[in-house]
Amino acid sequence: MNSETAYVIGALMMLANGGVLGLVHRDLLPSLRPSAVSWRIGTLLIAGGCLIILGQKQLPAHIILPLANGMIMLGFTGYWRAIRQFYDLPDRFWMLLPFAAGTLSTFWFTAIVPAIGARVLAVTLCWLALFSFCSATLLSPRLQDNALSRRVLAWIFVGAAGFALLRLMLFVLPGMPPIDNVVDSSNWINIATPMVAGIMPVVGTTAFLLMCSERLRRQWEHAASTDYLTGLANRRTLAEAGERRFREMRRGDQRLAVAVIDIDHFKSINDRHGHDTGDQALRHVAGTLERHCRNDELPGRQGGEEFVVVLSVSGPEEASQAGERLRQAVESQPFRVGDITMPVTVSIGIACQTPSDASFDQLLGRADSALYTAKDSGRNRVESAN
Ligand code: GH3
Ligand code: MG
Ligand code: MG
Repeated sequence: MNSETAYVIGALMMLANGGVLGLVHRDLLPSLRPSAVSWRIGTLLIAGGCLIILGQKQLPAHIILPLANGMIMLGFTGYWRAIRQFYDLPDRFWMLLPFAAGTLSTFWFTAIVPAIGARVLAVTLCWLALFSFCSATLLSPRLQDNALSRRVLAWIFVGAAGFALLRLMLFVLPGMPPIDNVVDSSNWINIATPMVAGIMPVVGTTAFLLMCSERLRRQWEHAASTDYLTGLANRRTLAEAGERRFREMRRGDQRLAVAVIDIDHFKSINDRHGHDTGDQALRHVAGTLERHCRNDELPGRQGGEEFVVVLSVSGPEEASQAGERLRQAVESQPFRVGDITMPVTVSIGIACQTPSDASFDQLLGRADSALYTAKDSGRNRVESAN
């Protein structure tokens, strides 16, 4: 194979890849579409750059080379932008600097002071910068998700950077056979370069699409396990976590306790201020509970204006202290909306696991009965189940 064929195959692979990304675009989450568009434009620019290199023998080098290299570098900048958009990082003007510096240097070392070694050095440094920025963004510790596809894509960029370094050494290290252009097929690096440039966007796009599907899976998981209004655990998560902890605790020293927390006279907030204000009050109480729960305590919304906290305690006394802590927290944080301040209180029924409890559900049932007692005894109080 000669290097021209390699450039054509590489470019066709990328064009096909960009086409596939265009076809699946509609299936992506709307929030990921801008990122996918940047990725696709990046791929098409790199493909275009590879095709333009083929014109080297027909058109003056000082036009072809800056144009082709500029397109490829802008394409890699597009990948970097796509990754940043994927993680909601804003566009920045300086992101164009590697592209601008690389393109100007290419022009300089082709038209003004022709020097292939310096030109390849400038282009490679620009590639290295862009690949490093891409992998650094992907490996940033600030990105909390542990998606494997994100790390795979990061390593694809590291691999591409390694190849760019190797190519640079072949061109500029003393003692290497001189290479006077980038399309001369007698040198294997001139065939390997378009092949790598063609394969990298294809495997990169695959990893990028896996990142998109991973994001979708996480969002579905999150939606299925949390309460849409308050962001707390929903009933299903509470039941699953409660049952699991119930079985674990039967073996250890700690005991499982469950607090059922119901807002007092909540209906009157809805009736006087409307349902939307009622929703805000629910969020307010949810936030207070979440802030006052310890790390091992799981707060959730059971439904309506009723919350549940699953906790581990040494015994009934510690359980009622925890209930009292939460009750006081809600009482001390009045709900403010506009210039209205409303006191909010909760009644709490709490039950602590005993050997006679057969399941988490049974424990929950006992806490629920204690809640009724708290309501009947005047509200804004904690009652423990017998
Ligand atoms: P109590 O002190 O006895 O608990 O009185 P309460 O008014 O809090 O209890 P009640 O069961 O009479 O009323 C609960 C109200 O909660 C009725 C219902 O419309 C309202 N509610 C349930 N879910 C939501 C919700 O998601 N948003 C809003 N705004 N209101 C809700
Ligand atoms: Mg209520
Ligand atoms: Mg209720």
